[in-house]
Amino acid sequence: MTPPKTRAHWQAMAAQLSIPTQAFIDGRYVDAASGRRFDCISPIDGKRLAEIAECDLEDVNRAVTVARRVFEAGSWSARKPTQRKQVLIRFAELIHAHAEELSLLETLDMGKPIGDAIRVDLAATVRCMRWTGEAIDKIYGEVAATGSDELGFITREPLGVIAAIVPWNFPLLMAVWKIAPALATGNSVLLKPSEKSPLTALRIAALAMEAGIPSGVFNVLPGFGNGAGEAMALHGDIDGLVFTGSTQVGKHLLQCSGRSNMKRTYVECGGKSPNIVFADAPDLEQAAVAAAGAIFYNQGEVCTAGSRLLVERSIKDEFVARVVQAGRAMVPSHPLEPGAAIGAIVDQPQMERVLGFIDQGQQQGAQLCLGGQRVMAASGGFYIEPTIFDGVDPGMVIAREEIFGPVLAVIGFDREEQALAIANDSPYGLAAAVWTRDIGRAHRVARKLRAGSVWVNYWDGGDMTAPFGGYKQSGNGRDKSLHAFDKYTEMKATWINLAN
Ligand code: NAD
Repeated sequence: MTPPKTRAHWQAMAAQLSIPTQAFIDGRYVDAASGRRFDCISPIDGKRLAEIAECDLEDVNRAVTVARRVFEAGSWSARKPTQRKQVLIRFAELIHAHAEELSLLETLDMGKPIGDAIRVDLAATVRCMRWTGEAIDKIYGEVAATGSDELGFITREPLGVIAAIVPWNFPLLMAVWKIAPALATGNSVLLKPSEKSPLTALRIAALAMEAGIPSGVFNVLPGFGNGAGEAMALHGDIDGLVFTGSTQVGKHLLQCSGRSNMKRTYVECGGKSPNIVFADAPDLEQAAVAAAGAIFYNQGEVCTAGSRLLVERSIKDEFVARVVQAGRAMVPSHPLEPGAAIGAIVDQPQMERVLGFIDQGQQQGAQLCLGGQRVMAASGGFYIEPTIFDGVDPGMVIAREEIFGPVLAVIGFDREEQALAIANDSPYGLAAAVWTRDIGRAHRVARKLRAGSVWVNYWDGGDMTAPFGGYKQSGNGRDKSLHAFDKYTEMKATWINLAN
């Protein structure tokens, strides 16, 4: 096994990086029409990395016109699925070939540990693009059950022009969960990365061209939510809007769809996922280490973060002590250190927001048993210690709101029904886990949990073969798997009269 690259290696590479700063429209990197730019700040040290083109309505209009034109011309939309497949697989290979550069951009831009960027973000991005490319020529239409005098067949057609608006916690992966199925099904795409993490989306635009995606089919428009984002959401000539981000913005986008052209709108939103540990969990140490990873991985900036730990009271004290020990080992460090377990919080406002929740936890009487402080402030970056509150009441703010940071709320329970009631008492329903040796209970609880993903005796299972998405206010629609194609296609029933 080759040893992990050193921090010095990554810093030398960063010094040589050519950071993409312009929007990508109609096959070319261009400035925003207004000429405006915004600062891209690295959370590692609070320093400016680049100035990025700030797109708004005018750029969106231009990109939509181009995207519509190429869609109608059929240079991509009318290609055979086998041809689109070859291009997407080439695209996956190019991303793989640039994995180190893209990982570095991701880490510099949003502060996650470089090792995680490589092992998780880039690996999953390549897998998603490749899997989706491989799948697209294996999908068949349907034939309706009819008499012999007619033929009814059901086909799926691309929607047309898709806008994808994505967040900053897994910037490239969340983008590829959208653009892979959108492109595979023949659509033209406008991608708006988060203003907090635009770099990898901009970089892969050139790789898309190199892979053979025609000009105008894939466009990247960096900018703010209330600028480029809103312009997409309200646009009358965008057919589909796919979004990953907060529930608040997701709700707003559903309204924008209704106020404009009823564009198909799918929103993947927030979570407050319960991790339920019964006294008969198969291995308490393994469960405790997993519980710490479930909340502290990626600085807690994970939609499926296991932010509510529900523990059967008979083992709670012992179990919390183990989780505290596992959390203490996850020391925040410089994200370019090869062994870093936790990096920087994405920006100063997010750090302050998380610290505000920690204050509220203390004010409401929860018992702080680990962390709670900003650390490494001298670096100029934004770092928070893994933080654990025990004795949390399910009604407390830290038990109800999505904090999106490294803060765990531990809640005790005495009975199975009580655990289920607490777990399901949330506006969110993204993910949940249950730890027990009792197979009957595992099935019973899994069935009753109102969540899009349920894990038994581990945390965060899943791959491209299974759909991912939420119940309730965690969103609608599903990413990944063959089900993802539903969001990017219309279903058509065609009837042929065979009687004359
Ligand atoms: P956010 O909602 O603030 O922003 C997401 C994107 O929406 C950004 O690109 C932003 O610029 C854009 N946006 C903001 N306001 C807009 C508006 N008025 N019109 C159009 N676009 C607008 O979310 P965030 O802070 O970037 O990401 C964190 C959230 O994402 C968390 O709630 C997290 O749970 C969620 N998330 C969900 C999933 C999932 O699959 N369910 C995955 C990752 C993250």
